Amino acid sequence: MPTFVRTEKCDGCKGQDKTACMYICPHDLMMLDKDGSKTGHAMKSYNQEPEQCWECYSCIKICPQQAIEARPYADIVPLGASVQPLRGTDSIMWTIKFRDDKIKPKRFKFPIRTTPEGSIDPYGGKPEADIAKITDPGFFVQVNGYRTGDSSELIKK
Ligand code: SF4
Ligand code: SF4
Repeated sequence: MPTFVRTEKCDGCKGQDKTACMYICPHDLMMLDKDGSKTGHAMKSYNQEPEQCWECYSCIKICPQQAIEARPYADIVPLGASVQPLRGTDSIMWTIKFRDDKIKPKRFKFPIRTTPEGSIDPYGGKPEADIAKITDPGFFVQVNGYRTGDSSELIKK
């Protein structure tokens, strides 16, 4: 289910032009209501189109105030519970709070990647794609010995 902002926790990223949640949302859904005319809460962010939310959790993870929540589906936690991440420099801690406000069984901590932002090599030693060949059969998959699939090789039972 889409995200929502706890207005009592959100500090509007201290009035910056682009808040952390606005910066990270891949769908440009988060907005800062500067004068409160949209939500009645000035300098608080909100999800302007909840039905368009991918539930990617990016805004939830980046919010420095832990002000954004989503109501997860029952395949993650029981309905009504909240799942809140807290990012550290080398790990992320997930807290599951049940709808009776109890935290059980406990928190879960996982390591995260520590490479600097922007340091990923997207091609990983492979040649850069020649976009002029995008309509050619076998584009990309025939590079470096790979080839396109052949349906006659499928195992049919
Ligand atoms: S990132 Fe968090 S604190 Fe900053 S504006 Fe968004 S909801 Fe508010
Ligand atoms: S969960 Fe993802 S798509 Fe939804 S508002 Fe947050 S960043 Fe945007």
